[in-house]
Amino acid sequence: MTYQAYYARALQETAQTAAATVQLQAQDLLSAVDKFEHLPYLVGAERTLSELLKSPRDAALVAQANRYLAFAKDRTEVAAIYLIAADGTTLAASNWQTETSYVGNNYRFRPYFQEAIAGRTAMFYGIGVTTGTPGAFIAAPLRVRGQTRGVVAVKIDLTPFETRWREGGLRIAMADALGVIFLTTQPDWRYRSLQALPQPAVEALRSTRQYGDAALHTLTGRQHALPIAELQALEIGTKTYLLKAHAIGRYGWQMLLFSDPAEPRRKGMAAAQIAGLSLALVYLSLALVWQYRRRQAERLASQRALAQVAAELDQRIAARTAELTAANDIAVQTGKLAVLGQMAASISHEISQPLTALRTLADNAASFLARNDAATARHNLHIIGELCVRMGSIVGELKAFARKEPVRLQTVSVQQAIAGALMLVEPSRKATGTRIQVDGADLLVQGDPIRLEQVLVNLLRNGMDAMEAQPERTLELLVRADGPWVEITVRDHGSGLSDDVLRHLFEPFFTTKPSGKGLGLGLSLSQAIVHEMGGSIQAANARPGASFTLALPLAPEHHATHPDERTAR
Ligand code: ADP
Repeated sequence: MTYQAYYARALQETAQTAAATVQLQAQDLLSAVDKFEHLPYLVGAERTLSELLKSPRDAALVAQANRYLAFAKDRTEVAAIYLIAADGTTLAASNWQTETSYVGNNYRFRPYFQEAIAGRTAMFYGIGVTTGTPGAFIAAPLRVRGQTRGVVAVKIDLTPFETRWREGGLRIAMADALGVIFLTTQPDWRYRSLQALPQPAVEALRSTRQYGDAALHTLTGRQHALPIAELQALEIGTKTYLLKAHAIGRYGWQMLLFSDPAEPRRKGMAAAQIAGLSLALVYLSLALVWQYRRRQAERLASQRALAQVAAELDQRIAARTAELTAANDIAVQTGKLAVLGQMAASISHEISQPLTALRTLADNAASFLARNDAATARHNLHIIGELCVRMGSIVGELKAFARKEPVRLQTVSVQQAIAGALMLVEPSRKATGTRIQVDGADLLVQGDPIRLEQVLVNLLRNGMDAMEAQPERTLELLVRADGPWVEITVRDHGSGLSDDVLRHLFEPFFTTKPSGKGLGLGLSLSQAIVHEMGGSIQAANARPGASFTLALPLAPEHHATHPDERTAR
């Protein structure tokens, strides 16, 4: 809220206070007047007064009436009570003994007399033409047998109100129907009009002498617009006041309450300042709330972003996984190719010999036929055939290894798998001068022979790699039965496994080996294969070295075929 708004609100408060104040004061004033409304009638009921009206020159009656009116005045605490004859002449008055006695004075020109003699109760405020003191005049007709014969008037001094208001710190003015201030806490405003009076009004006032000889200057300067309708800003002289008017309809009067415009301004300012402070606090709170919300929003946004990133990541991971799977496949292929490479290296020797023999046998067979030695030629062809079968089986094995085929679970001889693996690692074993000790019974497991070979090859090669820097290189292969499981342990005497390596060992692409030496796929592929076969793989430190243990399910027919090996462990 702006200062203006606070000012308007303060004005509103001022207006409300003013309204309440002016209403209370007007009520007070009215009741002070109203309580004497019937006094002229009551006073007029006294026979002496009506008697006097009948015999105005009766001095005894005048004296009696004067005493009576003085008594009544004292009892009622009004300013004066007096009896006016139908011609306007005051016959008797409570102040008969004073220098300013009304007795003998004619008040025919006074409106209250005119109204009262016309039969109505009248109310009039004016300056006493005799006393020069202002007062409210209440006049009532005095009827004798239904006929208005005179007027009883009561004058009420309202000036004590001025004192009361002043003492109450109020700035009040009573204005009559014409707008002339007749009662006020501000002496210099008295008998001055709020607006310029029209000439007939000025003349009427002169004739009734309502305000005596007062100049009846116009008081007001200018009016100013205010943000609220309930108050008016009135510039009087050099000062501006806030004016709250309250109409006292019955007498056509207006009570005007003037208040200091600085008050609501100060209040408005203070409120604005307080509000400014509160506003600052509010702003601060708002800022904090906003900041909080923004942070929330940011948090939400970042959460969303994170979620999006996570989703993207998921997608990427999915894509990457797909890639990896593909890569794995490729890796598997690569691994297999590597193994095939080893295999090729190791078997090329095996194949090249029969091939050379085949070439020789084939060449010789042709020579023997040319020499008509059909028997020798037939023998050579038989050997050729056998060599082809043998080579065909090698090719078949290579094909199975090279091609990505689903795991076909079958009964696998662990020793045959170990033999196959050893055959595959033979070139490396020779190159590194590694001794491989195989121990344990020939157990049957359920699995895939080619895959099991692949796992064993991986473990053996890792073991050999781990012992690369050592002069003595020994690998131990231990097979044993453990309940429904067959445990194959490959143990080396190498560097062992650090905690970090132990944590990441089976993760794809985790490798501590220099590039070209390892892809970090061996153990992850091995684990995947072992899992596919329904088994597990564990790594541990053997101090010295590391040990990898495969647990594979014992083949169902194992017990039938090798019942004695159940207790082999
Ligand atoms: P790669 O052999 O291509 O590195 P692997 O998955 O087979 O991939 O092995 C991952 C890592 O595990 C190796 O780089 C090595 O750090 C560690 N590791 C595997 N086997 C052994 C072992 N027998 N001794 C010490 N560390 C090993």
